[in-house]
Amino acid sequence: MKHLLKKNLWTLFYILLGMGLVLLMLISYMQYKNVEKDLRSELAYLSKSTSEATNHYFIQQEILLNILDKHIFEDEGIKDKDHVRRLFRNLLQMNPALAGISISDPEGDIVLLSKTCNPDELHNLKHSKESCSAFEKALKEKGMVIGRAFYDKAINEWILPLHKAVRDDNSKVIAVLSLGLHLSSARSIWKAYTDSGTELEIFLDDSWYRIYHSDKPPGKYPELYSKPVTKQQRYSEEGGEAIETEANTTFEELKKSKKPSVVLFDSPNGESYIISWQYVPDYKLWIHYHMPTGKIFDKVSNYWIINIVSFLFIFIVVYYLFYTINAIEKRKSKELLYQAMHDNLTKLPNRMYLQKKIDSWIYDGAPPFSVGFIDLDNFKNINDSIGHHYGDLILVEVAKRLKASMPKGTMVIRHGGDEFIMLCHEYDIDKLSENSRLLIEAISQPYEVEGMEFTVGVSIGISRYPLDGTKLFELLSAADIAMYHAKRSKNSFAFFTSELKAMRNRYSIMEHELRNAIEKDELTMVYQPQIRKDGTLHGVEALIRWENSRLGQIHPEEFIKIAEESGLMPKIGRYITKHAIEEIGSLQKKIGAEFCLAINISIRQFNEKGFVETFIETIQTGAMNPSHIVIEITESLFIEELEFILATLQKLKEYGLNISLDDFGTGYSSLGMLKKLPIDELKIDKSFIETLLVDNESEAMVKAIITLGKTLGFSILAEGVEEEEQFTRLNELGCDLYQGYFFSKPMPLNELYHFIDSQNMESGCSV
Ligand code: C2E
Ligand code: CA
Ligand code: CA
Repeated sequence: MKHLLKKNLWTLFYILLGMGLVLLMLISYMQYKNVEKDLRSELAYLSKSTSEATNHYFIQQEILLNILDKHIFEDEGIKDKDHVRRLFRNLLQMNPALAGISISDPEGDIVLLSKTCNPDELHNLKHSKESCSAFEKALKEKGMVIGRAFYDKAINEWILPLHKAVRDDNSKVIAVLSLGLHLSSARSIWKAYTDSGTELEIFLDDSWYRIYHSDKPPGKYPELYSKPVTKQQRYSEEGGEAIETEANTTFEELKKSKKPSVVLFDSPNGESYIISWQYVPDYKLWIHYHMPTGKIFDKVSNYWIINIVSFLFIFIVVYYLFYTINAIEKRKSKELLYQAMHDNLTKLPNRMYLQKKIDSWIYDGAPPFSVGFIDLDNFKNINDSIGHHYGDLILVEVAKRLKASMPKGTMVIRHGGDEFIMLCHEYDIDKLSENSRLLIEAISQPYEVEGMEFTVGVSIGISRYPLDGTKLFELLSAADIAMYHAKRSKNSFAFFTSELKAMRNRYSIMEHELRNAIEKDELTMVYQPQIRKDGTLHGVEALIRWENSRLGQIHPEEFIKIAEESGLMPKIGRYITKHAIEEIGSLQKKIGAEFCLAINISIRQFNEKGFVETFIETIQTGAMNPSHIVIEITESLFIEELEFILATLQKLKEYGLNISLDDFGTGYSSLGMLKKLPIDELKIDKSFIETLLVDNESEAMVKAIITLGKTLGFSILAEGVEEEEQFTRLNELGCDLYQGYFFSKPMPLNELYHFIDSQNMESGCSV
């Protein structure tokens, strides 16, 4: 889940971004709708206020007309014409909105006129096209009637006429009072009810003449005032249709309602508006507003700017957050990748790194290169004897030296433990040999770790691409085989060869077969007599034999080494001890004589936990006398931790066992060490006996060993005695015991029985 999230971090970011955008749009849309709603109510309110103000304005005019009616007329007609003229003059002076006042008879002829009007331009009101319809209406109605606005030549101005019929007691019209209002003065009142962008128009009902247009004054647009608005114009241009479809009402219904109807309207010129229509019933007027929807944008844009700024801010913060998380994750995964591909201790790249990078070495047409498999010699001993802490410090230093002594471009890998791998562009055998020698020299230099000095050996196996393999595992396996070969000589290097491969194959098969050798009953014991000076039997050395169905007879030296290397030695060792003791124990019982039994103990058995206890237990089960058992060890044992070896030997000795130092003279035991060891016998190595008679140096060596051994109180056994002359010479030199083909080859138990029987040998163990 976490991994998935990491992978999709940016996807998550884009999802959030998308959701944020959707939210932004949603909020913005809602704000738009809110502003639109506000503007609609604002327009409704405006319309209502306008209608009230208009009503109020015309009530004032009507009151004026009523007052005139009262003052001027008696039942039959005008009281006093001069008085009326004075009244007109006063009124016109007091009320600047008034352009002129007239009184006409019911037939439309002017009877009396204020001085502001030019009498030459006067026409009969009933017949003039501008006033006829309003005049006719005034004759019929009780209240004041508003006429269409027109340019009055008598006054030389645009006026709005108002007519009111004067009636006698029988309601018969006796005259018509008319007021001409300066249209501009009415305009100035309505002007207060519009703001920028919003248009106000006022129409007369029925005739549908426009008496006011806020943006288009009559002086400039006379045609707007001199022609009525057709039904078609009203519906399509002035939003009548929208009123019907959106507000679901009609002009007729609106006449009954006192409220304005406000709707959205898309005009044919492509603009869209919020419009309102309201009827003023007292004076039969229509108040009509146009507010462009652009106003909504003007108002909402502030919110939108805040939205966008907030969104951008949040977006930047979130982006920064994601960016940081991503950067941390990237760095973490980079670190993890580095850690996964590098060894913690030496900081060298590891096997995983090698796997990853091998494609840059192996590809079609890649130049040849070499692979070095490097293994430190006996590094385990350093770890075991001085502890892992020092072992680690040495490994770090080894890694440094490896890097320093290789040519540029070499890849050095820690393969694990004390193993390293190198990929080097060098291919030439001579140069590689030279490099290897230098490397061995560099690694073999003493290491000073926390005041202590150590030396470490190294074995190098080399394989070459493409000669020894074209795949990494083939090259590594080849280098490994070569390394194993080099390991035999220690501190050396070897190139991979097909012979080595064959050897390695045989080794593998042998190891495999050896694992089942005990179960398949392929292991047997043979015994080689050890003879005293006088020819009597001193004892026998138990030697193992392995006859395998696939491989035939295998030399013990070969398979013992494999057993040691593959960890099989303790198991095989237990088998040897058990069988040798059982067989020789029963033989001794059978012939009623006692002689020594020498058993070879490998270094690997010695190191095994509980070795001493198991060994003693086996002797007890086999019911052999411990003093008749000789343990053969080699000097190689002393490479191991000496204290531990000495303690083990001491325990064996205390139990009454004898200890013999095998192959003596080939190793490197010092005189000082020999003195410390609880041993009973020295076995001169057969290589000295072989050349005893032909090589003076060998003779000198044998002499020295005998003298040394005697001085330290050990008995001396010579092995590999093949000729009588050798026996004679050794005898002269003071050797105590003899073993070799001259007396007998190693043989199975039944042959040993016959050997002892036929020789009728005296026997007894006294090492
Ligand atoms: P080693 O312990 O030095 O055993 C003596 C070897 O010398 C034996 O070889 C024996 O057959 C051989 N030998 C005896 N007399 C003569 C002679 O006159 N001339 C010649 N040329 N050789 C003679 P083998 O049995 O082949 O064993 C070889 C090595 O294998 C042994 O050397 C020992 O290191 C190892 N080995 C054999 N059996 C055992 C065993 O049971 N346990 C252990 N740990 N190692 C064993
Ligand atoms: Ca031996
Ligand atoms: Ca030996």
